[in-house]
Amino acid sequence: MSEANFDLHCHSNISDGKLPPAELVARAAGQGVTVLALTDHDDVSGLGPARNAAAEHGIRLINGVEISVSWGVHTLHIVGLQIDPLHPMLVAGLEGIRVGRRERAAKMAEHLDKAGIKNSLEGAYQHADNKNLIGRMHFARFLVAQGIVKDVRTVFKKYLVKGKPGYVGHQWAKLADAVGWINASGGQAVLAHPGRYDMGSAKMLELLEEFRALGGVGIEVVTGSHTPEQYPHFANLAAKFGLLSSRGSDFHAPGEGYRDIGRLPALPTLCTPIWHDWADC
Ligand code: AMP
Ligand code: MN
Ligand code: MN
Ligand code: MN
Repeated sequence: MSEANFDLHCHSNISDGKLPPAELVARAAGQGVTVLALTDHDDVSGLGPARNAAAEHGIRLINGVEISVSWGVHTLHIVGLQIDPLHPMLVAGLEGIRVGRRERAAKMAEHLDKAGIKNSLEGAYQHADNKNLIGRMHFARFLVAQGIVKDVRTVFKKYLVKGKPGYVGHQWAKLADAVGWINASGGQAVLAHPGRYDMGSAKMLELLEEFRALGGVGIEVVTGSHTPEQYPHFANLAAKFGLLSSRGSDFHAPGEGYRDIGRLPALPTLCTPIWHDWADC
């Protein structure tokens, strides 16, 4: 049997990825992934089709989700692994976040309108294959398709981040709630790409302390969002806090930023992998 290759963070077109779940799973299998977690933002409806495709390709599918959270002034992402996608608390919590996304999108479009970009709400929805899940990436792809900006990375920089015309502040789920829903559904809460949060090291320690106290059990150490220099840093923080380590590409679309699915280095040896006690892994 070939070596296990875990990719525990990726997106389908149920959120802001481009590939339908079955195609994403096929790509993962083709890239040598043996255990894949689909972790769409705030929506679990891709897990059914992904599960069928995983069975076809002979790989293991882990039920996942990536929950948007506000923690003070910061937006955080909490990945839930091994969740029960039918758990009523989780289902209701995610539905609430999706409603908030719709409201934010309408405000974003008003702001962009004032900046001279017309009809962006309709445009963004045209780029959202799942009309229940609208996000900044759909606006970004609309602006690129309109020829207004050359690529999504530049759209974010010029329009969609704090201080730019299309940015709208938003209240996401509370950290305690997101971790609570994940745990209630039998899952494991993992702090996604900690290296991406714009906070000093003291604040990061405070976050890890609070996250663990609330029932969080892991952090992403090797992710497409970290530089190789950040791997040992977060491996050490995981060890210091007694947290497990996760590994995932955060793949969204072929040729669109970050790393391809299944193409990440191994976790540093000092890490205890989040999958260390998963059955059959
Ligand atoms: P949202 O959850 O709707 O606020 O959108 C966040 C998503 O936008 C992330 O999950 C990424 O997929 C994407 N994103 C955020 N920042 C950037 C960036 N600077 N460049 C490209 N994509 C980004
Ligand atoms: Mn995304
Ligand atoms: Mn994220
Ligand atoms: Mn992600």
